[in-house]
Amino acid sequence: MIQSNISLKDYNTFGLDITASSFCVVKSKTEIINLIQNEFSKYAKKLFLGGGSNILFLKDYGGLVIKNEIKGIEIERETDEYVYLKSYSGTQWNDLVLYCVDKNLGGIENLSLIPGTVGAAPMQNIGAYGVEIKDVFESLEAIDLTTGETIIFNNNDCQFGYRESIFKNQQKNKFFIYSVTFRLNKKPVLNLNYGDIQKKLIENGCVNPTIKDVSNAIIEIRNSKLPNPKEIGNAGSFFKNPEVSIEKYSELFLLFPSMPKYDLPNGNVKIPAAWLIEQCGFKGKKYGNTGNHAKQALVIVNYGNASGIEIYNHAILVQKEVEIKFGILLSAEVNFI
Ligand SMILES: Cc1cc2nc3c(=O)[nH]c(=O)nc-3n(C[C@H](O)[C@H](O)[C@H](O)COP(=O)(O)OP(=O)(O)OC[C@H]3O[C@@H](n4cnc5c(N)ncnc54)[C@H](O)[C@@H]3O)c2cc1C
Repeated sequence: MIQSNISLKDYNTFGLDITASSFCVVKSKTEIINLIQNEFSKYAKKLFLGGGSNILFLKDYGGLVIKNEIKGIEIERETDEYVYLKSYSGTQWNDLVLYCVDKNLGGIENLSLIPGTVGAAPMQNIGAYGVEIKDVFESLEAIDLTTGETIIFNNNDCQFGYRESIFKNQQKNKFFIYSVTFRLNKKPVLNLNYGDIQKKLIENGCVNPTIKDVSNAIIEIRNSKLPNPKEIGNAGSFFKNPEVSIEKYSELFLLFPSMPKYDLPNGNVKIPAAWLIEQCGFKGKKYGNTGNHAKQALVIVNYGNASGIEIYNHAILVQKEVEIKFGILLSAEVNFI
């Protein structure tokens, strides 16, 4: 059923009280195909909404918002080594992680507690603690928004990159992601080299850690560092970590000898955006109803009454200051709607 003038306050993690002129919930493939074939042509603008955790609404939405609640997890097939799990796109990402951890299926435990839905995960190739979904991604089923046909995309077809995929680029707004199949390892290989995972495992007394221990450690670290959107509105990292050439980094290093970097396989380096923003003095500073979080400068927050435009303008200010100081243009990870 399509409803009119619905507040999306509870459907976006910035907690912005904006209105969708039309809104509906889908719970099955039949419902989404019916919608595409019978209703879509009536609306100039359509937006699929998962958990609303990677979206900044700049104003009320004059179009149809489709909230995805097509849920479920099933075993598609298995080999001696792997289980291929199919998850429907409206499933909460962390429910899928917990399902795998519970069954000792390795591969996504480092992605514990990332908010949002399974269907949005391939959109930006979600990643954390040294793992991205492309590492375990097998294929996805997408529904063509013009024909209602189901198309399979394998790993290469998705053109995954750092917080990128074909669905944010050439195929933007052309498909609804219906289900995603992941390849999980029956004999988990732990990936503990990133951030404070090892330190936290030691603190927790885990000598021979299991994937459950790793998942718990990551949940603890994330809870201690990132603001909970239920308490302070935010969409996680606002900007991507910029990639620069080694020559550019070397020039900057002479001026800023404490500048951190991660070497990339292509010879370039990645600089933590949080560090750049912190150097510009934004960390923990409040600007009206918005600002950069005190524990993580990369997270722009809504202290309660910010509008989407206020948050956006603040992000532009941060972007400008970083560009002036370092000559690096930050690009947004969050989608502006
Ligand atoms: C506290 C916090 C921490 C975070 N940490 C991380 C992190 O560690 N790593 C990381 O990568 N991200 C992180 N994020 C960002 C966010 O959780 C992910 O990008 C997540 O995948 C978004 O899922 P969603 O369902 O909320 O997507 P939404 O915000 O609802 O949608 C995002 C985009 O995908 C589109 N979309 C959604 N579902 C579908 C579908 N089924 N078919 C087609 N298009 C669709 C939407 O139209 C929109 O353009 C964090 C966010 C928060 C709030």
